[in-house]
Amino acid sequence: MEQWVQGRVVGKTVWTERLVSLQVDAGIAPFEAGQFIKLGLEIGAETVGRPYSLVNAPGEHPLEFCFSIVPDGPLSGRLAALNAGDPVLVASHASGFLVLGEITGGRHLWLLATGTGIGPFLSILKTAEPWQRFERIVLVQAARLTSELMYRDTIDGLKALHADRFAFVPLVSRESTDFALPGRIPLAIENGQLEARAGIGFSAADSRVMLCGNPQMLKDVQQLLIERGLRKNRRSEPGNISVERYW
Ligand SMILES: Cc1cc2nc3c(=O)[nH]c(=O)nc-3n(C[C@H](O)[C@H](O)[C@H](O)COP(=O)(O)OP(=O)(O)OC[C@H]3O[C@@H](n4cnc5c(N)ncnc54)[C@H](O)[C@@H]3O)c2cc1C
Repeated sequence: MEQWVQGRVVGKTVWTERLVSLQVDAGIAPFEAGQFIKLGLEIGAETVGRPYSLVNAPGEHPLEFCFSIVPDGPLSGRLAALNAGDPVLVASHASGFLVLGEITGGRHLWLLATGTGIGPFLSILKTAEPWQRFERIVLVQAARLTSELMYRDTIDGLKALHADRFAFVPLVSRESTDFALPGRIPLAIENGQLEARAGIGFSAADSRVMLCGNPQMLKDVQQLLIERGLRKNRRSEPGNISVERYW
């Protein structure tokens, strides 16, 4: 049985018609950057809960979640309709393995996200650990439209703090821009544009790659990187590629 604590919405950011972030006050147990936790609402006689990545760093308040509204999904639309002051259930404990504690070695950390998959990576980048462990960090944020590139201020803040070691590579697939790579992440890996923009290449020795977002991106990127000699990261067999699927 899920252990819920009563939380309260304290703020809301509406990025687009289908992308929303909620800031929530709730007393949850300590968690690791990159983990997810369930949010829940009473719907009829039932408590409906779904997992969401924590965007805030451990110890940072309020808790922050960003999510897409899934048409006909029972929870996401209802969460998006909440406003400051509204109650929301939060599971007492977070979980998940998309965390730096599951990764060994490496000089370069690649964080590849589509859509709301940016969330766990921002949590990780707000902590000291990645900056202590890796020489170079590349954050890749892919979206269909420029307006869907969430958290630009947070990312600008990271750029300002870590200018010499941090590369941010946005991709926008459905409109042309003068700043983002065109198309999707797998294409930018295949044609070399991603590595050119990042200023480093993928290698089995140096790269540790975390992926989060669209299932097709996860599949295609893993396949491309495996062809390049990288391996899936497993506890029993440490490798290069760690993945989180949202659906
Ligand atoms: C470990 C984990 C972490 C997650 N973290 C996040 C997060 O940080 N942000 C977030 O937006 N979602 C996240 N999700 C997905 C989230 O839990 C819900 O599934 C989603 O919000 C839809 O909820 P729903 O009840 O409205 O519909 P559901 O009944 O959960 O989903 C209905 C259908 O929508 C599709 N779907 C689910 N999520 C998405 C999505 N994000 N985009 C497009 N289609 C989707 C699936 O095909 C699913 O069968 C995560 C899922 C997992 C397993």
